[in-house]
Amino acid sequence: RKFVYFFGKEETEGKNSMKDLLGGKGANLAEMSNLGIPVPPGFTITTEVCVLYLEKGSYPDGILDQIDAAIEKLEKVNGKKFGDINDPLLLSVRSGARVSMPGMMDTVLNLGLNDQSVVGLAKKTGNERFAYDSYRRFLMMFGDVVLDIKHEYFESAIDAKKNELGVKQDTQLTASALKQLADKFKDIIKKKTGSEFPQDPRRQLQMAIEAVFNSWNNQRAIRYRKLNNIPMDWGTAVNVQTMVYGNMGETSGTGVAFTRDPATGKKEFFGEYLMNAQGEDVVAGIRTPLTIATLAQKMPGAYTQLVDICQKLEKHFKDMQDIEFTIQEGKLYMLQTRNGKRTAAAALNIAVDMVNEGLIDKKTALMRVRPEQIDQLLHPMIDPSAKYEVIATGLPASPGAAVGKVVFTAEHAEEMAALNKKVILVRAETSPEDIGGMDAAQGILTVRGGMTSHAAVVARGMGKPCVAGCGALSIDIHEKVFTVNDLRIKEGDYISIDGATGSVILGKVALVTPGVSEELKTLLSWADEIRKMGVRTNADTPHDAAVARDFGAEGIGLCRTEHMFFGDDRIPVVREMILAEDEYARKEALSKLLPMQREDFIGIFRAMQGYPVTIRLLDPPLHEFLPKHDELAEKFRLLEAGGTASQAAAAELLSLKELMERVESLTEINPMLGHRGCRLGITYPEIYDMQVQAIVEAACELKAEGMDIVPEIMIPLICHVNELRTVKKHVVNVIESVLAEKNVKMDYMVGTMIELPRAALTADQIAQEAEFFSFGTNDLTQTTFGFSRDDAGKFLPCYLEDSILGNDPFAVLDQEGVGQLVKIGIEKGRSTRPDLKIGICGEHGGEPSSVKFGYRIGLNYVSCSPFRVPIARLAAAQAVL
Ligand code: ADP
Ligand code: MG
Ligand code: MG
Repeated sequence: RKFVYFFGKEETEGKNSMKDLLGGKGANLAEMSNLGIPVPPGFTITTEVCVLYLEKGSYPDGILDQIDAAIEKLEKVNGKKFGDINDPLLLSVRSGARVSMPGMMDTVLNLGLNDQSVVGLAKKTGNERFAYDSYRRFLMMFGDVVLDIKHEYFESAIDAKKNELGVKQDTQLTASALKQLADKFKDIIKKKTGSEFPQDPRRQLQMAIEAVFNSWNNQRAIRYRKLNNIPMDWGTAVNVQTMVYGNMGETSGTGVAFTRDPATGKKEFFGEYLMNAQGEDVVAGIRTPLTIATLAQKMPGAYTQLVDICQKLEKHFKDMQDIEFTIQEGKLYMLQTRNGKRTAAAALNIAVDMVNEGLIDKKTALMRVRPEQIDQLLHPMIDPSAKYEVIATGLPASPGAAVGKVVFTAEHAEEMAALNKKVILVRAETSPEDIGGMDAAQGILTVRGGMTSHAAVVARGMGKPCVAGCGALSIDIHEKVFTVNDLRIKEGDYISIDGATGSVILGKVALVTPGVSEELKTLLSWADEIRKMGVRTNADTPHDAAVARDFGAEGIGLCRTEHMFFGDDRIPVVREMILAEDEYARKEALSKLLPMQREDFIGIFRAMQGYPVTIRLLDPPLHEFLPKHDELAEKFRLLEAGGTASQAAAAELLSLKELMERVESLTEINPMLGHRGCRLGITYPEIYDMQVQAIVEAACELKAEGMDIVPEIMIPLICHVNELRTVKKHVVNVIESVLAEKNVKMDYMVGTMIELPRAALTADQIAQEAEFFSFGTNDLTQTTFGFSRDDAGKFLPCYLEDSILGNDPFAVLDQEGVGQLVKIGIEKGRSTRPDLKIGICGEHGGEPSSVKFGYRIGLNYVSCSPFRVPIARLAAAQAVL
C-alpha cells in the first residue's frame, strides 16, 4: 500500500480532495504545490499509518522503505543530504489531521541538526547565530514534544540567560549565548530522560514521527475532539518538510494571515508577522508581532507576492484562507493554507460578500453559515446607553460582550460554571490546557498575545467574547488579584469585557441584544427562497409575537395560555376560580377572567397581522397557580402565635386553614403525569369554555377591523381519541354559539398536541377528530424516555459525560426514539386525514439538527422561541440543500 505522498515543485502526488488520507495540512500543501505556489518540498505520511501504528504499537510493513525513498527524493530536489555534517538538509515534522485542531498536535522544527552539523550549517551559511538559534530551538522542541520534558525547564534556562546578559528579546541573544543554551538544553535532556540527546538524524526523525502519532492520543487532543465532536479513530497524518528559515536575520521572518478579517469578515488582508523569527514565535506571544500592512514597506516584493498568492488561494478554494508563511532572506514560502476560522459575523458577511463578488452561489453561501452561529449574532453587546468605566483596553480579539466574576485559572472557571456562576477567565495567556475553562467562561481576557494568539483563535471558534493582549494588566496569580494602574481587582470581583472594542470595564455593565443586520436579512431572504418548511414561533405575549415577526416568523405555532394567568392582576382571580366551591362560583371567577383573556388574544392576533395563530388551552396542573403549601403553613404558624383573640383573626385563621386544605388536596405526587392538559378540560369544562369564548370573540373583533383570522385551537395532552372527541364537542359548541350570537361567519380549526406515546401510536384515530397536529416534543421526550425534565439535571450530565447519550434529548431531538414516534404519528395521522397540517413546537423547533430531521419526515412547519426563528429559517433551507 502507498503510505507516503510526495509534494514539491517537480512532483506532487496528493491533492486537496485527499484530506481524509493526507490530513488537511498535507492535502493543502499538495494542492498549493499543484498550483505552482512556492512551498518547501516534503512528503506526507498518511493517517492510515497513524491508525495502524496506534492499534499495533508498531509500523506497518513497508513504511520505512517508503520513507527512505521519499527522503532520497527530498535530498535530490534540495541538493543537500539529510545528516550531512557540512551542509545538512533539515526538516520540519508536522502533524495534520483531517480537520485542523489548533495547538493540539505539536511540530518539531530544524530536525536533523546535531553537534557536528550545527557547525557545518554555521560555516555554510556564514551565520553562526542563525545556526545555534536553530539548534537551540530544535533541542527545545524535540525535548518538549518528543521526549515529553516540560517546556518550562527550557524556558527558564532562556530567561536565566537573558537575565545574565541583561537583554529582553530572544533576538538579542548572541551566537555564543545560543550555543551555551544549546549545551544547557542537552544537559536538561540528559538529566530528565537519563540518556543523551540522540545525535543520529534518522533516529531523530523516527522518534519525531512516532511522537506525532502518539500525540493524537494526548489529553489535550482528546479533550479537543470531545468538545468538537471529532471522531477518535481518524488519526493524524505526519508532514515531513524541508525547512525554510525565518530566523536568518533582518530580511527573514515568519507570519500568519487571513485573506479577510476573521472577526468582522471585512475584505481586508489581515495578519501579523515577526522578523528574524521562526515557527510559532508569532502566536506564542513572546514578542509583539507587527501588523501585516507594515510588511508592505519593509519588504515590498515579498508583500506583493504574498497578496497575489492569497488572492489566488481565495479564488481557488472559494473561501477565506488562513495562511502561514515564512520569508527566508527575502524569499517567500507558503507553509500552510486552510479555510479560516471566523466569528459568526465574519461567516455571515463573507458568505454574502462572496455571492456579490460572484465567487460562490447563494446555496453555497447558505451552507457557509452554521445555524448556531446566528445565535451569536443576536447575542449580547454593551447597551449603547450604559455608562461605564473602561479601565484598560486590549485587542478586540473576539466580538460580543460579557459580564462575570474574575477567575484566574481554567479549573476555577469550570468549578464556578458548574455552580451556574458567570465568570471571566483572566490569564497571562492561554494554552490548550485551558480550553475547558475557556468554554466554561463567559469571556476571556489575556495580558499577552495578539489577534492570532491561542486565546483569540479559540475564543472566536467558540463564539466567546475575548480581549487579548491587554498589557496594562498585571496578574498576581498567588495573591489572586490583577492590577491596572492603581486599581486592584480581586478574584470574584465583577468585570465586563467588550470583545468588539477590546474594552475592559469595571463592574457589571448592561448588555443588549442586537437586531438583525442587513447581511443577515439578505442571507435569510435567500433561505426563505429555498426552504419548504414553515417557521413559526412560540409566543404568549404581543411583545414576543412582534419580536418574532421581526425575525421572520410566519405565525404562532404555540401560544401557551397559562402564562397569561400569572400576571399580578390575574393570579387572585385565577385562584378564586381554582378554589371555587362549586360550578357557579367557578363561572363567576371565570367571567372576570374572560375580558382579560380576550384582550390578550386581541393583542396577539394584532401583532401577528393575520398570520396563523395556534392557541393551546390551559395545560398545567392547577396547583401551579396556588401559593406553596409550606409558605401557607408558615403564615399559619405566625398567625396562630399571634392568638385568636379578635374575631377577625380567628376568621382569617380559618380561611387560611381552608386554603391549606384545598392546596393540599390539589397537590399531586407526580403533576407531570397528573391532573393537567385535556384532563382539566374534561373535569372542568367551563375553563376551556371561557378560553374558547375569549379567542373567538377576539377574532371577531379583529375581523370587524378587517383582519382575517382563522383561529387554531389546540387541545393539549391527548392520549385517547375519546378525550379529544369530548373536549372538541364542547369547544365547537362554544365557537358556534359565539359566532351565532355575533352573526359572524368564520373558519376555525380544532387540533391537538401529540405529546404522549399513545397519541403518536393511535394518531390515525386521533386524526379523525384533529384538524392539525403539533408535536409537543418536550413532553413527548419526557414520556418516551421516562425522564422528568425537572429532575433530569441530577443524572443527565453524567449520561453525557459517560457518552451514554450523545446529546441532551431535551435540547436535541432523539431521532432514533422520540423521532420514531413523531414519524409514526405523521404517517398514521395522514393515513386518515391526508391534508393534516403538522408542526412541532417545543425546544427542538429551533435546534438545527432537529429542524432538518423534521423536514425529512414531512413536517409542514416548526415553531420555536422568537430568537431562534432566524436559526430555524436557515436550518430549514439547509435541510433542502
Ligand atoms: P500547527 O498545526 O500547530 O499550526 P504547523 O505544522 O503549522 O503547526 O507548524 C507550526 C509552525 O512551524 C508553522 O506555522 C511554521 O511557522 C513553522 N514551520 C512548520 N514547517 C516549517 C518549515 N518547513 N519551515 C519553516 N517553518 C516551518
Ligand atoms: Mg502548534
Ligand atoms: Mg500551522
